[in-house]
Amino acid sequence: MPDATALADRRIALVRADNPGPKTLTGTNTWLLRDEDRAWVVDPGPDLPEHLDAVAAAAEERGGVAGIALTHRHDDHADGVLGLLERVGPVPVATSTGWLPDGAPAGATATTVGEGDAFGPFAVVRTPGHAADHVVFVAGDAAFVGDTVLGEGSVLLVPHEHALRGYLDALTRLRARGLAILLPGHGPVVLDADAKLDEYVAHRLDRERRVVDALAAGSRSADEILDAVWDDAPGILRIAAAVTLRAHLDKLEDEGRLPEGVERQEFGDFDGL
Ligand SMILES: [Zn+2]
Repeated sequence: MPDATALADRRIALVRADNPGPKTLTGTNTWLLRDEDRAWVVDPGPDLPEHLDAVAAAAEERGGVAGIALTHRHDDHADGVLGLLERVGPVPVATSTGWLPDGAPAGATATTVGEGDAFGPFAVVRTPGHAADHVVFVAGDAAFVGDTVLGEGSVLLVPHEHALRGYLDALTRLRARGLAILLPGHGPVVLDADAKLDEYVAHRLDRERRVVDALAAGSRSADEILDAVWDDAPGILRIAAAVTLRAHLDKLEDEGRLPEGVERQEFGDFDGL
């Protein structure tokens, strides 16, 4: 199996959480990277005891946990941080925001990371778009991409300042790194990193072109634009499409390309997945 070889060659292991759903696909992927006979955990996942037990056991087999890297603070990636710290002891937790969960054991430390920083074996790439706080952790030719790229389908973009522009820029910076494989937060391993990154950029630009076409044809309400542009999104993902549409409209406004009278829905502090 090529996946298994690609992971084993890089001393990467996967523990998948049992939280499947339309947006989590087959469940959250928690990744372990062995480096210098310790394990680094990327995205502990949801707060499910069986899952966290399995992550802790896999880490123990690899010499214990040296640190926890969190791509972003959505529940399905971050809720398990506290339970994992309780199982493996106090270790550094890297996020872009310096976050630690309430009740973290004494000795656990928050490490704030940004573009170009190192965290253990990782180089950090800022990747806004899916979430304002999102970062990707790169080790050699492998990137732990969280929800910046999924193993299947496309990503929900959550509106924040310059979300879509920042997202496209992040995909371009990842593409420039000459990566071989992507380890996504959901879905299968991506063994052709550049093709997938190209596909993602092309997909976003295609959606943008279709949004512009729908506006040119006179669509103004969110429902009209969604019907025209996200006709392939199943009903359960309509809200995800609506949130992503907002990010597209914000970008067009930033660029002075948004006509008058277009409905832009508010989503409060919607944080999706
Ligand atoms: Zn997410």
